[in-house]
Amino acid sequence: MEIKTTQDALNFINSCDTFLFDCDGVLWNGSHVIPKSVELLSYLKSKGKRTVLVSNNSTSSRKGYLKKLEAMKFSVNEDDIFPSSYAAAYYLKEIEKLKPNDKVYVVGMGGIVDELELAGFETLGITDNVTEHTFSAANELLNKFDPNVKAVVVGFDLHMNYAKLARAFDQLNRNSDCKFIATNDDSTFPIQGGVLPGTGAWVAALKECSQKEPVITGKPSTHLFNALKKFYGLETDKTCMIGDRIDTDIAFGKNHGMKSLLVLTGISSRSSLENTPLKPDYHIESVTKLFELINT
Ligand code: PLP
Ligand code: CA
Repeated sequence: MEIKTTQDALNFINSCDTFLFDCDGVLWNGSHVIPKSVELLSYLKSKGKRTVLVSNNSTSSRKGYLKKLEAMKFSVNEDDIFPSSYAAAYYLKEIEKLKPNDKVYVVGMGGIVDELELAGFETLGITDNVTEHTFSAANELLNKFDPNVKAVVVGFDLHMNYAKLARAFDQLNRNSDCKFIATNDDSTFPIQGGVLPGTGAWVAALKECSQKEPVITGKPSTHLFNALKKFYGLETDKTCMIGDRIDTDIAFGKNHGMKSLLVLTGISSRSSLENTPLKPDYHIESVTKLFELINT
């Protein structure tokens, strides 16, 4: 249902004790803070509600997010931020039980490396400075094969190249016990004035050559849901996932028995809402509108 009136908005808020917020497309678009998102989070906290920020963007760690959020004037604790970089490190440590100092090959950026190292792992890959884009440069990387690499983690990587793909492939191909983890597989992400290819594009490349299926640790995966449930003691029927993307956020909420609210300030439009079988429980133009309804 569309949240249209103050009563609708209050009924919605009263029906939940925890709100999982997707970030980009809901609270902000790039560096632009969506009006009243800071105020909405403060309002929910003042009513005793728990708010957790759950982002598929793996480029920052929890600490990195905290800095960004503080600069945007959000009042949050590091413990209430759960980016896919952290979800990947958590999964390897708590579910796969990798040991301290186990090695992980990373296709991705600093946020993943920081979280993996905080979890105690040694990371490889981020400093592979490939300057020569030739077959022989890629071939030379094969000499670097390391049997102690226990996992390959793929996240968003602005510096992806053929040699990195070759190295990640080689670790998976020559060691059948090596875990293949993807922080997320979003096909695209929004940027001012359009959309750009997302992590799913790199994940698809590695899937294709390795012929292996990754474990996805971001939305909409059940691994993420289990982690959040354990961390925050979620009561699923009193938890709502608020997102802008139907195939990740709304799927995540619906597949795990949570409520879901779609906002139309990011990837999904009114026509995508009409044309999807994955209907959210609620939808509204924006968090701005939700805050305004509550305050009229
Ligand atoms: N991945 C990347 C690289 C991004 O830049 C973004 C959004 O900016 C996302 C994923 C999606 O993040 P979220 O789950 O917060 O919408
Ligand atoms: Ca989003």
